[in-house]
Amino acid sequence: MSNYTHILMAVDFDKSGEQILAKALDIAELNNAKLSMLHVVEYTPPVDYANDPMTINWDINDNEMLEQAKKSLQKFSKQHSLKNVDLSVEFGRPKHVISQFVKDHVCDLVIIGSHGRHGISLLLGSTASAVLHAMPCDILTLKMED
Ligand code: AMP
Repeated sequence: MSNYTHILMAVDFDKSGEQILAKALDIAELNNAKLSMLHVVEYTPPVDYANDPMTINWDINDNEMLEQAKKSLQKFSKQHSLKNVDLSVEFGRPKHVISQFVKDHVCDLVIIGSHGRHGISLLLGSTASAVLHAMPCDILTLKMED
């Protein structure tokens, strides 16, 4: 089996992020692979990244949301003392943006949670199932510890 060279972890700031990060770091180290972390800012509803990423604030605009999301990702990275992990924040629909990112940046493994904020009560969340069908490379879907 050939090694992975560029691993993408997709995070949505729920508790799945910790589990995804731990697995991504392990696999990246084993494969000596580059690691990228992506969060997709969805157009609606506007998430209040500055205060609580789990709440909605209709007063903030797209640019503000993008900036706040970047800061949240940087904070997450700092909290875990991450080094050499590329951080990206993009606008759009997660399933489209994640697969476009994989093509543009030539990732060969994507790590996501089986469910995040969209699919907490489902076996497989909406982003996870959409990504499974759209991805041009291997996908590792982590069973989330509830
Ligand atoms: P979901 O299917 O939406 O419940 O989420 C499943 C997984 O997809 C999450 O654990 C993340 O790994 C990923 N994901 C969901 N939404 C986003 C997002 N906005 N940006 C990046 N990754 C996401």
